Amino acid sequence: MQYDVIIVGMGISGISAAIYAKNGGLNVLMLEKESPGGLTNKINVINNYPGFSTITGPDLAFNLYETIQKLDIPYKKQEVKNITIENGIKTIETDKETFTCKNIIIASGRKNRLLGLPNEQELIGKGISTCALCDAHFYEKKDIAIVGGGNSAIEEAIYLSKFVNKIYMIHRREEFTAEQELINNLEKCSNVEYIWNSQVTEILTKDGFVSGVKINDKEELSVSGLFIYIGFVSNTDFIKELNITDEFGNIKVDKKQETSIKGIYAVGDCTKKQVYQLITAASEGTIAAVNIIRELEK
Ligand code: NAP
Repeated sequence: MQYDVIIVGMGISGISAAIYAKNGGLNVLMLEKESPGGLTNKINVINNYPGFSTITGPDLAFNLYETIQKLDIPYKKQEVKNITIENGIKTIETDKETFTCKNIIIASGRKNRLLGLPNEQELIGKGISTCALCDAHFYEKKDIAIVGGGNSAIEEAIYLSKFVNKIYMIHRREEFTAEQELINNLEKCSNVEYIWNSQVTEILTKDGFVSGVKINDKEELSVSGLFIYIGFVSNTDFIKELNITDEFGNIKVDKKQETSIKGIYAVGDCTKKQVYQLITAASEGTIAAVNIIRELEK
């Protein structure tokens, strides 16, 4: 079977595209390697999405999943490995199957950037985390460190401060780049110590778990957890060969969310853009789907 459109990624941008594609009568398939909802699953509280004065990330993720089910949109839990194009027809190879389609919407999102320290990857889940919402309860009444100074670091610190004994906020500058309101709220948390102009240079371990961090190759802090919030990297390794990304791996798109390859669109956090928010991601999904519908009607 040849699909009208295959959507890679079931975050809010991909699901929004799927809703419009399905309602527009297209033959659509969604592919996702993890869980529906994408990064939404990792957000504690959302208070800037129209229609919800407040909703938790997991609740919004569940609502998105329910919408897909109600609309009977087919999806498969598979990881896309490669995309090739011949005479305008696109072939998607996953870890399990091969599919063909006329159009693709890449909505693969982005993942947290890591520090690049040698033992970092193997310690994920053993003291290293990028998701306060998922892991806070493991650190109840313990001491932890957080790296970063943007909105993510500060928001997550505020959340974690309710669980842990003490937080060391480690930032490589002398001031945070986060919004002032968030900084004000963090300053109200009494269990936070600020470590400015500093980098984590080593992650210390005991019995295979994080036991501390070394700062600036000198001072050692004893902590059970290290939460890293130093920005994001787009999940675009699988389309490297298509040559549609910038030097940072973000997909370049036009006003229709189309890449330089006809019939390949990209939406959400994997694209190069100005505003990385749920509402912009949702709107980009809509724009891509509507443009595909219009193209197919020609
Ligand atoms: P970010 O704004 O890019 O901030 C990254 C932070 O990590 C900066 O303080 C940066 O320091 C630091 N950093 C980068 N590389 C580092 C390294 N190798 N070692 C140590 N520190 C490093 O990232 P973010 O906070 O994750 O936010 C990403 C986007 O999501 C932003 O657009 C943000 O506004 C948005 N966001 C919005 C909300 C909200 O609306 N409530 C919440 C979360 C995120 P330097 O400043 O020195 O580079």
